[in-house]
Amino acid sequence: MSDHSLKKIGVLTSGGDSPGMNAAIRAVVRTCAYYKTECAGISRGFEGLIHNEVRELGPRSVRHIINRGGTFLKTARSERFRTKEGREDAYQTLIKNDIDGLIIIGGDGSFRGAKAFYEDFGIPFIGIPGTIDNDIFGTDYTIGYDTALNTAMEAIDRIRDSATSHNRVFFIEVMGRDAGFIALGSGIASGAQEILVPERKDSIDDLFKSLEESEQSGKKSSIIVVSEGEEIGNVYELAKATKEKFPKYDIRVSVLGYIQRGGNPSCMDRILASRLGVAAVEAILDGKTDIMVGMRSNKIVHTIIAEAIRKQNEIDIELLRISKILAI
Ligand code: ATP
Repeated sequence: MSDHSLKKIGVLTSGGDSPGMNAAIRAVVRTCAYYKTECAGISRGFEGLIHNEVRELGPRSVRHIINRGGTFLKTARSERFRTKEGREDAYQTLIKNDIDGLIIIGGDGSFRGAKAFYEDFGIPFIGIPGTIDNDIFGTDYTIGYDTALNTAMEAIDRIRDSATSHNRVFFIEVMGRDAGFIALGSGIASGAQEILVPERKDSIDDLFKSLEESEQSGKKSSIIVVSEGEEIGNVYELAKATKEKFPKYDIRVSVLGYIQRGGNPSCMDRILASRLGVAAVEAILDGKTDIMVGMRSNKIVHTIIAEAIRKQNEIDIELLRISKILAI
């Protein structure tokens, strides 16, 4: 670690919460203490930065949180931060509190905000990818994705009990916004008949064909996992169209919703958050800025924020092929 001149690093969580954010905050705070640098926690993301919601954090302030979902600093979306005036107020908070570096834990929207702030005032910052959607370029996994995946898988397992007992077809919607990571992962892990993701241009006829094949192969029930961003229709529309085509099917719909956001972080998410928290503080103390820390092939990597924002994390199309083979 080179000599550094940062006095106090601020840490905040922004955008949607995700399990493992607490573990990341803990890692940031303790790494600051390790390198004898002060650390301040900013509540409610950029909104709290505008309103001077700042408190000093030491190693003991973050005890007993590694295992907790959500974020103890709280998170928010801030319309004011999108304006120059809002960011000016946020800058005044940094001046008042002697904060000269920022660690931003959030999704790509939060990184856009951090970048705008950096361009305005030149305060160094490092981004840590925290979102269940896994849609950020520059890291194989984002903090919270693994937990959400496990939660979705467990929920689908339970629904399967009902599907098999009643010979039902279930359409299950999982989160992920425009990305199909949660659908693909939880669909394969729970043995879904079909997985519909926005990245693949499906048609309703492909789905019907798959259901027909499934019936011919002797299956009495089916699980169709649908990403919330699926373009051919939402779960209710898909269920309606399927009922019209196959009136004898007993069809049910389940939207998993916010249960996928909460819960204690998985072991993988805690480890990822711990590693990225340490890496972020080490990067900023090393004079780096305007980058995101991520993990690729189990190694820490730095990605320029503009690139993390501009590019997309692609789903592995090979997994769709595997799911098709195994659904025979
Ligand atoms: P998630 O993926 O979980 O939704 P996110 O970080 O993408 O997380 P957003 O709501 O998109 O969440 O962004 C968080 C906040 O970042 C916004 O409420 C806003 O304050 C700030 N922000 C986003 N884009 C910009 C921008 N272009 N300029 C300034 N601030 C921005």
